Amino acid sequence: MLERDCQKGNETLTRRGFLKLSILFSISSFFYPFKGISLEQRELPVTLTPKSLMLHSANEPLVEGLAKRLKELNYRSLTYSEMFENIRNGGCIDGKHILLSLDDLSIEWLNPAYSRIVDTFAGFGFNLTLGVVTRGKPSEKAIQGIYKMIGKGCEIAVHTENHIDLGSADLKTVFREISTCYGKIIRFFDVVPSTLILPFGFIYIDSKDPNKGYNQAIFDVCKELKINWVVGIVGGKSFGGKSPFYVGRISPDGKHNVDATLNLLNNSFRGVRSSCNNKLVP
Ligand SMILES: [Zn+2]
Repeated sequence: MLERDCQKGNETLTRRGFLKLSILFSISSFFYPFKGISLEQRELPVTLTPKSLMLHSANEPLVEGLAKRLKELNYRSLTYSEMFENIRNGGCIDGKHILLSLDDLSIEWLNPAYSRIVDTFAGFGFNLTLGVVTRGKPSEKAIQGIYKMIGKGCEIAVHTENHIDLGSADLKTVFREISTCYGKIIRFFDVVPSTLILPFGFIYIDSKDPNKGYNQAIFDVCKELKINWVVGIVGGKSFGGKSPFYVGRISPDGKHNVDATLNLLNNSFRGVRSSCNNKLVP
C-alpha cells in the first residue's frame, strides 16, 4: 500500500511547493555551496526490495557471526547507491542480495563500535550504508573515522541534522533537516549523498495512525536534492518508476541470534525473484 502511494505521490509537487523549495534551496546553498552537482533522476523497472537489515551500534554482538554466516550462504551486499547503479545498468537483484545499513553515526563523536562493525563486515567483503546525523560541533577524529569507512566501501546516507520525526514535520523543517545534513556530508566527506534514512523510520504524518497518510514533503525535498532512496521500516517491499523510491527494512533479532535474524529476513522479504529472469531465488 505504502509503496504504491509513495510512487504516485512523487508526481504531485505543486508549483507553490516547488517555488517554496527553490527559495529554501537557494538560502541553504548560500551556506553550503554545492559545486557542479548534476545528478539525474532516472526511472527504474519495478523491482522487489532485497533483504534489508537495520543495524545500530548495540547490535555489535551479532555482527561477526552474521557476517560469517552470510558469507557461507553466498550473500552479496549492496549499498543503496550500488543497488541503483546495478539496476540502471541492467543488473539483476535477487534473493542473495542484502542491504546492510548502520544508523546514528555522529560527526561529534565516533563510537568505536561503529569502526569495529564496519571492519568486521568489510573483512567478509560486505559494504554498508551508514546513516550519519550531522548536528553539533564536528570532531576531526569522528570525521576522519567516517572518511575511512568510505574507503572501505561504505555509502554515506543523510540521517538528518537533528534526528527528528520527519513524518509529522512541516515542509520547512523537513527541508532544513535534510538539506543541512546533505550539505555537511558533501563538505566533510566529499561525497554527494543519494539516500535518506528516515529517523525512527517515521514517514506517516501521524505515526500512530497510518490512515492519515505519509508526509509528501519528504519526497518533494528528496526529489529536489536528487536523493534516490527514502529508507524507512514499514512496507516498501517493492519500488520502481521515477526516484525517489521508498524502501523498508527490518531490525535484527533482539537477542543477537544469527539464525533468528536470518529467519526474520527470510520471512519479511519472502520470495524475492531475480529482477531479470523472474526465477525464484532461495
Ligand atoms: Zn536513527
